[in-house]
Parts: sequence; structure tokens; C-alpha cells
Amino acid sequence: SNVKHPSAPSLMMNSHFAPVGESPSREQYEHGIQVIDEDKQFNENLSTYLSIEKIIPAGFNYHLISVFGSQSTGKSTLLNYLFGTQFGVMSEQERRQTTKGIWMSKNKREGADKEAKGMAENILVMDVEGTDGRERGEDQDFERKSALFALATSEVLIVNIWEHQVGLYQGANMGLLKTVFEVNLQLFIKDSKTIPKSLLFFVIRDHIGTTPLSNLRNTLLQDLSRIWSTLSKPPGLENSRIEDYFDFAFVALPHKVLQPERFEQEVEKLATRFREGYNDPKKSGLLDEESLPVFLPQYHRRIPADGFAVYAEGVWDQIVNNKDLDLPTQQELLAQFRCDEISREVLVAFDETITPLEDKQAEGVRVGKAAVLPELGGAMNQARAAVLRDFETNASRYHKGVYTRKRAELESKVDTRLKTLFQKQLGAAHKSGVDTFSDSVGAAVKLGQKKGATYDFAQIVESEKTKALEKFEEEAKAVLVEGAPWSSYDQELNLYQKDLEEVSSRLRKEEMRCLATRVERWVRSRLGESVGLEFNRLGSGRGGSGAPEHGEKPSTEKDLWDRIWNVFTETVESAEQRFTDRARSFDASPEEVEVGLWRLRRKSWGVLSAKIEEEVMEGNILLKLRENFEDKFRYDEHGVPRIWRPTDDIEGIYTKARESTIALIPLLSRFKLSSTSAPPPLDAWIGSPPQSVSRADEEDLAPIGGVDEDDGRSLEEEMTVLGEVKQQDLLMRFKKTADGVYVEAKRSAIGGMTQ
Ligand code: GDP
Ligand code: MG
Repeated sequence: SNVKHPSAPSLMMNSHFAPVGESPSREQYEHGIQVIDEDKQFNENLSTYLSIEKIIPAGFNYHLISVFGSQSTGKSTLLNYLFGTQFGVMSEQERRQTTKGIWMSKNKREGADKEAKGMAENILVMDVEGTDGRERGEDQDFERKSALFALATSEVLIVNIWEHQVGLYQGANMGLLKTVFEVNLQLFIKDSKTIPKSLLFFVIRDHIGTTPLSNLRNTLLQDLSRIWSTLSKPPGLENSRIEDYFDFAFVALPHKVLQPERFEQEVEKLATRFREGYNDPKKSGLLDEESLPVFLPQYHRRIPADGFAVYAEGVWDQIVNNKDLDLPTQQELLAQFRCDEISREVLVAFDETITPLEDKQAEGVRVGKAAVLPELGGAMNQARAAVLRDFETNASRYHKGVYTRKRAELESKVDTRLKTLFQKQLGAAHKSGVDTFSDSVGAAVKLGQKKGATYDFAQIVESEKTKALEKFEEEAKAVLVEGAPWSSYDQELNLYQKDLEEVSSRLRKEEMRCLATRVERWVRSRLGESVGLEFNRLGSGRGGSGAPEHGEKPSTEKDLWDRIWNVFTETVESAEQRFTDRARSFDASPEEVEVGLWRLRRKSWGVLSAKIEEEVMEGNILLKLRENFEDKFRYDEHGVPRIWRPTDDIEGIYTKARESTIALIPLLSRFKLSSTSAPPPLDAWIGSPPQSVSRADEEDLAPIGGVDEDDGRSLEEEMTVLGEVKQQDLLMRFKKTADGVYVEAKRSAIGGMTQ
């Protein structure tokens, strides 16, 4: 088997390198663990051992005892009896040192032995090598180092001595005790306020019984005081007393070989004293009652069990390298190390919850579809609470300052990630909220248009906005993290609101455009009809309007343009009224309405221009002129068709009618009002661009001569309907047409006569 036996300590040297594939087992540590070997190497497997023995989760609920004393004074034997350990014991035959370095074992009677019921939980015992260099004829180096180590870690130091050694002030034990006191001063002077006391527990072996224990105790105490007085104490501690640092307890055991039964009885009695005591000031100092418990809280070194291995190693490292061993610093270093370790441990569970969510978000961003994760809020709250709670549970046992700092570090690490998740979620909620808002408004408008009724755009926007805000707040509230200082969404809500406003105003603008388009369409159709009518009237050559209907003012060809301008401005005026009423209903601002009207006037002018252009297109206008001419030529002033006779003044009538029609061409060629003979006041009528007009508003507008200065064309040019060339061309064509009509009339007159 792979049992590490104390008599073969060299095996332990390589124990750090446990064979691959072999899990550490209890059997492997049957004899405990050699914490420090004879080469002063620290055993890296200590924490494994403590874990196997289930000490690690114990927090402060464990105890450490070290036993000191000359070689072969039955120390290991005593521990084995007291705690059921299996420390190596020298056989009666061969007298050589068995314990090398420092061994540790857990109290094996715990749980197994009914009589051990009274014993404290998780007692760890350290069996220290024959701490008596003088006897071995070696230097006192190891003695001093192991004393330091034991004091830095143990609550109770058992000093094991033969009865016959008591009172031998010059003896080896006194040298050992002097060392213990010296290193104690060295260890604890840095911060005298937090000095933990230690219990020096004298176990007097082979007590014959003739000298009562109280006498032995007094003798020992006197010797201890004398040693104390000879020590050179650090400044400020000159008057300190030995009782400031140590409590003392004494017990005497019968001869194990001569009185084996009594020995065992007394050991059993002694075992019951290894139980928890309470902090009673009256009981500190001299513990003379033979049954008092040994584990008083003030002895505890306050190293959490899960940090013990690291602490012990750090302490030993300082000792073995002859560095100043300063326990507060060691405890801070330990706290840093352990807090970092605990941080990493608790972050594992945090990662398990949080990383997949981070991945989901990243994936959403990658495919350009950041989604709101419904489970996020719960997960974040749970993960944050758990990580901080778990950290606190394990790490708060360590140095307060370090713990507080490390907790803040952990919190900030965790919060950085949670805050990112939080903000990305709000970002997703923001985006989807704005999209939904925009879509819903669009859908509601479409529905309104389908129904044909005048839907209330402003009300649609308002109600969708309320829904969008409620949804966002609901989603934001769901990801608030309790206790996190960053957990608030006021700013984000503000931004969201602003964006909704922006989208609203964009949608309103779109709605305005739609409205403008509808109104323009209406203007186009109205103008198409009414302007067409005016031009059609040209076809009747008698006074322009043919037979005037009842109540209608008789009009002439001369005021064609006046009528067109009037019908145009009246039409646009009522279009403006429609536009204004509707735009107001969806909360358009006065500026927006103003721009809309300005655009409407310009566009309407464009519509009119196009309509006029269509009317004067070659074929159309020629037809109208011909009709006009024929009307004048073929009908008399009463509207009766002429039957040409050879005697008629065909030529005279023809010339008159032709000239009358020809006179229309210059009239048609310019848009001007008859009263002023000038173009209509288009520039004043359109008005100058409103202050709030934007580039986008002007983008799709055609330039208008005389209105837009940079267009380079004058109002005259804008009002030119037919250019010189076209007029000439039209004139020529018309004359040809008229000539044709004339020839035909002439023929029919002759034909009528010959018939
Ligand atoms: P250690 O070196 O101090 O650990 O001593 P051990 O426990 O190895 O014992 C050394 C020797 O002393 C062994 O042979 C034991 O049998 C013997 N021994 C143990 N306990 C007693 C005791 O109470 N009285 C006497 N006289 N001998 C003892
Ligand atoms: Mg021993």
C-alpha cells in the first residue's frame, strides 16, 4: 500500500507529487500528514488532507493543539491515547527518534468514540519533533522555528515533561520554554492589542504521587517567572507579565508502564477537558481547576479553516527564510489570497447564469436583431445576490479591511457585467419600442384611411405613445437589480421619450405630406375641370362664353386669364382651408402648417401651369382656334348657320372672322390680367418662404420664374404661354386651316347655285 509511515519520512518529501490517477484517500493519511519534513519542506498536500478530514468548511469551528517536549518523553504515545491518532511511537527495543519534522492528525475519536462526545469538534493535533536540540546535541534552529510555527497557529501548547525534570531550572525543558517565550514576544509585539493568548498545558509524566500536583505547579510557575524576568523585552513591554501572554494548566499522569490502567483512566479524564470553553474573564489566567475546558475562544488564532493551509505555508515560508514573521501582515496576505480565490469560486456560478445571457445578447447584436430577454431580470437579481452572499459567507471571516476591499472589487466586477446587460436590454427595449410605436401608428392610420372616416391622427399618436412608454417602463423595471447602485433607468426613459417624440414628429410630417398630396390631387382635378372649361369656351366664337346662362356675368375672350386666375385662387383658397383644418387636427405646429400652405400654393401653380400647357399644346389649341373661327364664320350673330350664296360677302365675313380669331393668339400667349395688362401677382400670392422651411421641404419643388430669384427667369417669362416662334407657327397653321374653311364655303356657295 501507499501508506506514508512516519518512520519513513523520506517518502513524504515527494508527496507533493502524488502519483497520477490516484485520488487522495483517507487511508493514505492513516498516520496523519507530515506538515513539515526533516528538510524543513512544507507539504503542499495539507489542504488536501484538511479537505479529506472535512475541516475545510468548518470556518472557525476547529482547534489546533501542538505538543512540545524532549525526545522520547512519550509525546506521541500520549497523543495517540488522547486522540486515537497513529503517530509513530518509538518501540521499547530500539531507542531512536521517530517523529521527524511536524506531523498533524485529526482527532480520530470524534464521532467514533462515545466517550469522546464531550470533545470539541475538529481538533487537529500537531506532533512536533523532539524539540530539544540540546539533547540531540544539535543546534537549536529547528526548535526555534517549530516553536514559532506552533505559536503562530496553535491555541494550546502541550508541554510534555517527566516529573523528575520539574524544578531542574537549568534543564532542557527550561531552554525550550525560554525559546517559546522569546518567539512569542517576537511574534506578537507588533500589535499588542490583538495578541491572542495561548494556553501552556503542562503534562507531567510518570507522576509518582508523593509530590502533589499543586506543588509541582508552583515550582514550574516560579521557574517560568524567573525565565520571563531574564528575557530582554522590547521597548514598551519591559513591565509586561507572563500572564499577559499565557494561561497555564497542569495535569499529572501516572507511569504508563508501571500503572497502565491508572494511566489510561487519567488519560480518559484528560480527554474530556478538550472541549469548548467560554470566555469568562475570571477563568483566564491560572487554570487550576483540574476539569476546566482547554479551548477558550481567546486562544483561537482566527484563521478560517479554508485558509489554514495557505496561512500555515506562508508562516512557515517566513520562518524558514528567517524573515520577520509578523502575523497581522500574514493574515492580510492570507485574506487577499483567499478573498481572490473565493471570488473566483463564487464567480463560477455567476458565470454559469450570466455568460449565456451575455452570449444571447451578443448573438442578437450580431444578427442585427437585439431582443429583449424576458428571463434577464430574474437571472441578474438572483446571480448578483448569490455571488455576494456566497462571497460574504466565505470571505467575511478574513481580515475585515481586506474583505471589504475585495468585496467592493467583486461587486464592481459583477456590476460592470450586469450593467452592460442592463443597458443592452434597455437598448433592445428602446429599439423595439420605437419600431412598434412607428408600426402601430402606421397601421392605425392605414385602418383609418380604409374606413374613410377622418381618423384622429393626434389621438392615435398619443395613445400609441402611452402604450410604448408603459411597455418600456415595464421592461426596464423587470431588469432593475436590487442593491445595485446603477440600477435606474431615468436617463434611458428620457432618451426613449425623446426618440418617440422625434418619431411622432416624423410621422406627423409624413402624414402632412400625405395630406398635402391629397389636397394637391383635389386641386389638380378641380383645376383640370374648371380651366378646361374656360379653354373650351374659346371654341365658341361668340363673346367667348357662348350663350350666357342666366345670372352669369357675360364674359369675353379678353378676360380669359382673369377668369382662370380667379378660379385658380379660389380653388387654392378652399384647398388651403381643407389643409389647415386637417393639419390642425393632428397637432401640426403653426410653422408646419405655414410651410405646408406655402408648398401647396407653389405646387398648385405648377398644376395650373401644366394644365395651361396642355391646353395650348399644338393640336389642342389649333382645334380651339378653328372652332372659334368656324363659329364666327359659319354662324350669324343670332347663332343661325349660314347657307352661303354667291351674293354673300364671303370674303368680308371670312376676313373679319379670321382676324378676330387671330387676335386671340397674342392674348393666349401671355397670362395677364385684363385690368392691369400685367401678369397676375403670383409672387405676392405665393409669398416668401416661411422662416421654418427646411431643405427637405424645398427639395421637390420646381422653380418658379419671378418668385425664385435664383431661377433666373422673370415673372414675365413664367407667364409666357406661347413663345414668338410658337405663335408664328400657330398663326401659319391656323391660316391654312381657315383658308381651307373659306375655300370650302366658296365652293359650297357656287355648288348651291349650280344645284
Ligand atoms: P516521543 O518521542 O516523545 O514521541 O515518545 P514516544 O511516544 O515515541 O515514546 C518513547 C518511549 O517511551 C516509548 O518506548 C514508549 O513506550 C515510552 N513511553 C510512552 N509513554 C510513557 C510513559 O508514560 N512513561 C514511560 N516511562 N514511558 C513511556
Ligand atoms: Mg514522537
